[in-house]
Amino acid sequence: MALMVSVSGIRGLVGQTLTPTVALEFTQAYGTLLGGGRLVLARDTRPSGPMFEAAAAAGLLATGCSVTQLGVAMTPTVGHAIRAGKYAGGVIITASHNPGEWNGLKFLDDLGVAPDPERARRIAEIRASGQFRCGQTGFGTLTQDDQAGKRHVAAVLAAGEVDLRAMRGRRVVLDSINGAGCTHTPELLHALGCEVVHINGEPTGVFAHRPEPTRENLGDLGTKVRETNAAIGFAQDPDADRLALVDENGTYIGEEYTLALAALFVLARRPGPVATNLSTSRLVDDLAARHGLKVHRTPVGEAHVARAMLANRCVIGGEGNGGVIDPRVCYVRDSLSSISFVIQLLAATGKTLSQLVAELPHYAMIKQKFELPRDQIEAAVKAVTAAFADRAPLTSDGVRVDFETGWVHLRASNTEPILRLIAEAPSEQDAGTLAATVRAAAGV
Ligand code: MG
Repeated sequence: MALMVSVSGIRGLVGQTLTPTVALEFTQAYGTLLGGGRLVLARDTRPSGPMFEAAAAAGLLATGCSVTQLGVAMTPTVGHAIRAGKYAGGVIITASHNPGEWNGLKFLDDLGVAPDPERARRIAEIRASGQFRCGQTGFGTLTQDDQAGKRHVAAVLAAGEVDLRAMRGRRVVLDSINGAGCTHTPELLHALGCEVVHINGEPTGVFAHRPEPTRENLGDLGTKVRETNAAIGFAQDPDADRLALVDENGTYIGEEYTLALAALFVLARRPGPVATNLSTSRLVDDLAARHGLKVHRTPVGEAHVARAMLANRCVIGGEGNGGVIDPRVCYVRDSLSSISFVIQLLAATGKTLSQLVAELPHYAMIKQKFELPRDQIEAAVKAVTAAFADRAPLTSDGVRVDFETGWVHLRASNTEPILRLIAEAPSEQDAGTLAATVRAAAGV
């Protein structure tokens, strides 16, 4: 498996494709691109984190950047710290939801947003050239800040907008996967008035289950919710940007509902523009339509969503993988903001999570992938765009065709020669029919 280089940073197998040298080169490249300035550096809890943190600090200091180390911190905490502290950017040592033998680097710019594709390309280009600044304008300084997590929690609490008395003393279960969310997420939940049962809550970086917060990995959370008679279960990924939910019956409700429930809450109070990527459920469009609003659809990737939110002054945004962005806190997907929205929604409505979900529209989503050479992927996307021209397909990232009953999105993987197909409709059978229609046009 080669080193994965994408707009969201780099990821690799520790000691194989990702070594301290690679981390040093990429951070020297980022520091060279920025030409100095103050940066934030943080890591998730993986045991290889301190090693890469040291390499990354060296790379940034060499290029004249000054580094503020947050130690173990959530990705959204870094996003918040950059904006609050007017930093020039940040680097996070994390492989997000990849298993423990992986690690990686995420870069953030001065808005606390993942770099745009052009900047991401420049970082890789400078790294490949080996032409790094080193000491031309002196070296940066190294300082520590152990209060960033507390300030992030305070910002999420300050963004709260309903009376939480109804949730006081209610039990919630939190699975932090022994990751970066371990320390400050219970702090937030306590401040929201909840009693917290914390599982996988030691910041050891030893993941108790596969770290992606998907149905098959969260059986223990559902069991714990039932055992403890809790109102809800929350699951974070290792860098705590994504959040998945389990209802009061211990049932996993699907990551698409995290953004939908946040939008349900926010739009009822502060109706305004919404942004999400092309692969995210139509649930968000249905909720926006209740207020006569449209959803800005972007290419897949947090950076695209964040930029669309900035450009359109969106009140809420995110991705269907459980990533919600509250622009008042930071322009990074933030599990703390997501938790706060859901707790406020429960408090404001007096309903259970299963009731809230039952009241939302229901869709089935199917995902397929096809190994194809790049030129055939491009040809398939072109053919579908032409075949469904009367449906005004969206083409900023592959092609998405919307039908009356659902939609199909075809796009090339960023990292592998794979064509991905996602189809959504009220039933799995309908989604399969739509997928087959589009595949026929695509010739795959
Ligand atoms: Mg993540």
